[in-house]
Amino acid sequence: MLPTLALLGRPNVGKSTLFNRLLRKNRAITHDMPGVTRDRIYEEGRFNDVRYALVDTGGLVVDSSEESGFEEHIFDQAREAVEESQVILLVVDGREGLTPLDEQVSAFVRQSNKPVLLLVNKVDGEELEAAATSEFHALGFEILPVSAEHGYNLAELRQKVADLAQETGIVPESEEDLAAKGLMLAMLGRPNAGKSSMVNALVREDRVIVSDLAGTTRDCVDVTFEEKGERYTFVDTAGVRRKSHITDSLERFSVLRALKSSKKADVTVMVVDAIHGITRQDKRLLDFLLKESTPFIVAVNKVDLVPSDEMKALKDGFARALRIAPHVPVIYTSTITKAGLGGLLPLARKLKKECSIRTTTGQLNRVMKTVIERQQPPVVKRRRAKFYYLTQSDDEPPTFVFFVNDATLIKDSYKRFLENRLRKMFNIKMAPVEVVFRSTHKKKNKKK
Ligand code: GDP
Ligand code: GDP
Repeated sequence: MLPTLALLGRPNVGKSTLFNRLLRKNRAITHDMPGVTRDRIYEEGRFNDVRYALVDTGGLVVDSSEESGFEEHIFDQAREAVEESQVILLVVDGREGLTPLDEQVSAFVRQSNKPVLLLVNKVDGEELEAAATSEFHALGFEILPVSAEHGYNLAELRQKVADLAQETGIVPESEEDLAAKGLMLAMLGRPNAGKSSMVNALVREDRVIVSDLAGTTRDCVDVTFEEKGERYTFVDTAGVRRKSHITDSLERFSVLRALKSSKKADVTVMVVDAIHGITRQDKRLLDFLLKESTPFIVAVNKVDLVPSDEMKALKDGFARALRIAPHVPVIYTSTITKAGLGGLLPLARKLKKECSIRTTTGQLNRVMKTVIERQQPPVVKRRRAKFYYLTQSDDEPPTFVFFVNDATLIKDSYKRFLENRLRKMFNIKMAPVEVVFRSTHKKKNKKK
């Protein structure tokens, strides 16, 4: 478990900008193109040796059709974020000054009794500091003036975030602890989809190695077991394994909790009910898993309830509903007949392996040069994007960065084309792949 800090505040104060700024430092390549940015809401960061998780509540609203007012939405998100975090980074806009909504958010945050750091953002230089922060002292929180955009006080902020993370007393698991857990799996899905039945069907009691009850919250119980000489761990299974159906059906579905578990895991299994199909809640979870580039498998469970002559129609239906996630493997399971279950662990292993693919820049550029020459990017506004070179900036998930003259000239369709080629070339079928374009000036001694 990692200490979790949540960025809270009304819209437009700069939460997302801060989120990116804080985490970016450790990522080799930034995702700074509008439209290309993947708006993550949960990500792990590190400063010096301190590891933590950061939540951006700005991105939590996805279902605008829900019947509640805009401000109510902010509080819904805030509630979830506060529940799931140990520290609150409350963000306000130093140029606009204190607004009634800021006061409401503050009052709400104060109730949680969690440590709060007030970030007065958009203080774009030291000379603005005194004027911008003065009226916020009334809120009674410790204040740090920053500028996400201009970098003012960001070094201080990083240090402060690391200090706050340490003060939570939560000690992240060491590399050795993690290695001992083998392949980490998270089970997500709506209540009653069959998650606990599936864990129980897969974990043979006689093979359980550790039932780690050290975590104090009911969500943080990991179960480690061995199967065919390989080690696996189901993360956060407390609620999943032993539970009362009454509380569970009332339990609010928490996106954040789901994302936390899936981040902890190597591979996530999203369990859906064959009879109910992809519901709105499933869709919401699916969107998040895709957006966060989570490696996952969809298990359509309870197929024993589907007459065999209806299976084909059922599969077609799921294939249609899952078209937004073409790379995601789908299996059909029953925890009662055990159909499909034998394939789950090997599939997870395969997916994990794909996620760790490493290519070399030389190899990449050789193969992609031909691809781009054969099918050039379409002309946009009478200009055509020029490709200089590309590199794999990251694995887990494999992330490819194309350096181009002007990234705004790349259309989504061309991006998809490149992604598909990369997938084919490196045999990445099931893992998420990120493709990023960066505008750059041509280098004098061009890399080949
Ligand atoms: P959020 O809704 O709170 O996540 O806010 P965003 O991060 O989307 O930022 C809202 C707007 O404020 C964007 O147009 C940002 O470019 C701008 N912004 C963010 N940080 C700063 C800053 O430090 N200074 C200035 N001048 N603008 C900023
Ligand atoms: P969870 O809330 O996702 O953990 O779901 P449970 O594992 O508690 O299962 C909810 C209900 O569905 C229970 O009554 C299970 O017995 C039933 N169930 C789970 N898997 C299957 C399955 O494959 N087939 C059928 N017919 N019922 C199942």
